[in-house]
Amino acid sequence: MQPTYFDISLPLTNGMPIYPRNPKFTCAPHQRMADGGTSNVSRIEMGTHTGTHVDAPLHLLDGAPGVESLAMSSLIGPTRVIDVANSAVPFNRDQVEAQIAGASRVLFKTRNSERIQHGNFEFFPDYVAMDPEVAEVLVEHAVVLVGIDSLSIERYGAVGRPTHETLLRAGIVILEGLDLSEVTAGDYTLMCLPLRIVGVDGAPARAVLMK
Ligand SMILES: [Zn+2]
Repeated sequence: MQPTYFDISLPLTNGMPIYPRNPKFTCAPHQRMADGGTSNVSRIEMGTHTGTHVDAPLHLLDGAPGVESLAMSSLIGPTRVIDVANSAVPFNRDQVEAQIAGASRVLFKTRNSERIQHGNFEFFPDYVAMDPEVAEVLVEHAVVLVGIDSLSIERYGAVGRPTHETLLRAGIVILEGLDLSEVTAGDYTLMCLPLRIVGVDGAPARAVLMK
């Protein structure tokens, strides 16, 4: 049987939504054949946490590894999509513990996916985020990657970054800015390939689920 592929990445485009206080995404012509250039070449400018992206430990821990050091064995492999879209905000330890057995990578589909579908949205600060107590469950279960359908896994306005810290200290890759609107709960294979930018805190990624 032919596999089905689900592209769960947000489109990168001028005017796309960006987390507050992060650089805007811009893509503009650098050289155009229509203007006498030998080829068409564009120039992009963006933050390292733009659209669908991964966070490296260096994002919050000075001196920790950058994005180029993330293990392929974490970024690629069997992955469970857990649907918490009907849950109260935010979802909690009990809901996750009931669904996490045997999963080494977990993506949380929340109510956000309805709102960020295909990238047509304005940043909304009341996005569903992950509580630190859920991060602890993931550490206890030796999960290697966690993803969510919001531009940050942390609650907006949280004091400190407790969810990020718990995950990054445990070496868990954080994948943010997913669009899970076309995906239902279940087990898939994830391919998540962040750009190999050296010595930085995060990088945009193409993320695809295969069934
Ligand atoms: Zn990030």
